[in-house]
Formats: sequence, C-alpha cells, structure tokens
Amino acid sequence: MFSRTSTQTSTAASLTPVERLARALDAADAVVVGAGAGLSASAGMTYDGERFERFFSDFRQKYGIRDMYSGGFYPFDTLEEYWAFWSRLILLNRYQKAPLPVYDDLLALVRGKDHFVLTTNVDHQFQLAGFSKERLFYTQGDYGLWQCMEPCHPKTYDNEQAVRQMAAAQKEMKIPTELIPRCPVCGKPMTMNLRSDSTFVQDEGWYAAAGRYQDFLRRHKGKRVLFLELGVGGNTPAIIKYPFWQMTLQNRRATYACINQNEAYAPPQIAARSICIPADIGDALAACREASGCV
Ligand SMILES: [Zn+2]
Repeated sequence: MFSRTSTQTSTAASLTPVERLARALDAADAVVVGAGAGLSASAGMTYDGERFERFFSDFRQKYGIRDMYSGGFYPFDTLEEYWAFWSRLILLNRYQKAPLPVYDDLLALVRGKDHFVLTTNVDHQFQLAGFSKERLFYTQGDYGLWQCMEPCHPKTYDNEQAVRQMAAAQKEMKIPTELIPRCPVCGKPMTMNLRSDSTFVQDEGWYAAAGRYQDFLRRHKGKRVLFLELGVGGNTPAIIKYPFWQMTLQNRRATYACINQNEAYAPPQIAARSICIPADIGDALAACREASGCV
C-alpha cells in the first residue's frame, strides 16, 4: 500500500505540465474553459503584422492605422468609411475560420467531457470549430451582431448578409450610403454589439447563456472540475481569471490550469492544485492531445 502510494507520487512528480494537464482532463467530471484573446491569437487570428498588412494596407496608408484593434477606435469622418473598415474586419474575423486548428484541438480534448466555455472573445471561433452554442457564454458581445447605438431597445441583429454586401460593395474605403445600417425602431445608426461602455445591449440570448453558465457551475459544485484558462490577459481578470481562482479555492477537488505564453501563474493558496504552462496555446493543446492519446 505504502509503496504503491510512493510510486504514484514519484510518477506524478516526474510528469511534465502538459502530461499533468492530460491526466487532469481525463480525471475531470467537468471542464470549464475560460478563454481570452490569446487563444484566438494562437489560432492565427492576429490583428497586426502581416495579416493586417494583407487586408488593410490601404487603411494604413490613408489613415495611419497600424492594427485592426486600434482601427476599431479610429474616429472616421463618415459612416461610409467606418463601415468599410468594420465590415472588412468582421468578415475576416467572424465569418472565416481561424487559420490554425487550435480551437479544433481544444474541442477534441473536451468533447467527451461535460464542458462549458466562458469567453471574452467576440469572434465566434468556438462555434466555427463545432462547439455547441448551448455550451458557450460570450460575455463581451459578438462581431456578428449589431444593436441600436442609443440603444432605444435591448435587441441585437444578425449582420452576416449586410456585412458581406458592405465588404463586396466598398470602393476606396467607403461603402455606398444606402448600405449604412439603421435601427429598425428609431432610425438612428446601428453599432457593434461589443461591450465598450454602458450602452452595450445584453439581449435575451446573452441572459440565457449567462443562466446556462451559472446552472453548469451549480450542477458541478464540489465535483472534480477542471478550470482551464486559455490566453486570458491582464485587462479583464475579473471575468475569468479571478473567479476561476476563487472557485478552485472553494472546491478542494477542483484543478486550475492556465496556458499563457506571457503570464501563466497561480496564487500560492491553490498552487498545489494548479498546472501552469507558459507556452503557445496551440503547441500545448496539440502536445496534450498526443499525451492523452486522443489524436
Ligand atoms: Zn433605435
């Protein structure tokens, strides 16, 4: 008995962090994935550099915009220019699948487990990879939705058809005036359904997803839950990182795992039940698939 325990301990100690993650996934009753921008960046959804240059070099030359993220805040003079930029950005980052199969690897790892995803990403890549909508809560909005700029009513509108039209019809970084989207209730311009200030619309779908997330946590309270944090930066730690730390602390059977190239860290109170992997998420998940034999 004692020797068996001792063997197990020494084996566990000799495992690499990726192997420990593979074991934690295997042992978990449920997996809660918390994903930030780093996950999409690892999947090739970069907003600057070569990818920006390939699709937005004309915007760089005319307006001095250096990357897609800051371009979203550029004070364009007209809505025709604003929507030329945004329609291109949405088409590229919401309606096209990420270049690298990082989301696919993640789905392969959690598919056999009861899982739920909490994400600040707004690019729809979970669904494009095949994750079930019922298992997703994207708290900060969706590039695929618009809302009234006021907003005069708490509804969101699917934008795919309009975005494709705008992207196809734009000339010299302007869309035709008649394509500017307007609120069907008050007639004011529409805007992106992205949380940047207090005008963000949380519609019925948002509240339903929030409810499903809370229900998932309730159902697995006290069970072997793996909190898997992927690419969450320091900008909004109160949404994913801090709650994951707290829920791990409160549940002695829970494990916290964090894959983050720059800041893979766990506080001392939960360090013994934490797996920190300072690596590229795509590389780590691919290695984890190999380690768990589900390739
Ligand atoms: Zn309105």
